[in-house]
Amino acid sequence: MSIQSIRLFGDPVLRTPASPVVDFDLELRKLVQDLTDTMLDAPGAGLAAPQIGVGLRVFTWNVDGEVGHLVNPDLSLSDETQDGDEGCLSIPDLVFDCRRALHVVAKGYDMHGEPVAIEGSELLARAIQHETDHLDGILFVERLDPETRKLAMRAIREAEWFGAPQMTPPTIKVSPHPTRGLGL
Ligand code: ZN
Repeated sequence: MSIQSIRLFGDPVLRTPASPVVDFDLELRKLVQDLTDTMLDAPGAGLAAPQIGVGLRVFTWNVDGEVGHLVNPDLSLSDETQDGDEGCLSIPDLVFDCRRALHVVAKGYDMHGEPVAIEGSELLARAIQHETDHLDGILFVERLDPETRKLAMRAIREAEWFGAPQMTPPTIKVSPHPTRGLGL
């Protein structure tokens, strides 16, 4: 197993849209394994490849004891929404109320290139939406209502892990704490 460093808010890789996977090869299977190991170690409820510095459309999840992965996801969201706490392993220690679709159907591929469809509600639906956002370079603070977002940005600016000077070559900051198991 190979636990990778989790990139933190402020790292440009988290703002960069990821590329679709083209080769379903050994490299991809190693990436899925690294994502899974890193997510379970954190521990988190989900992890997307950009969070470990890889710009490919792959994520893993760990919800209700079920661990899975999805490559090149394509989402259909329900109109019905849910409100609830959400956190991010790339924004340690901070949890905010975030509105999401209640149900999601995610079509994509497994690491062997077989087409799969994942149906999820509640936390699994939240995780799938959060991780797919990561693949589009979107962080969950952008999904918050304006008031909560203001609070979130202030909390980030004041966080201990934020704003440490960049060294050359850049040091990779490691997510120091799980976010009450809600980190994604
Ligand atoms: Zn996240």
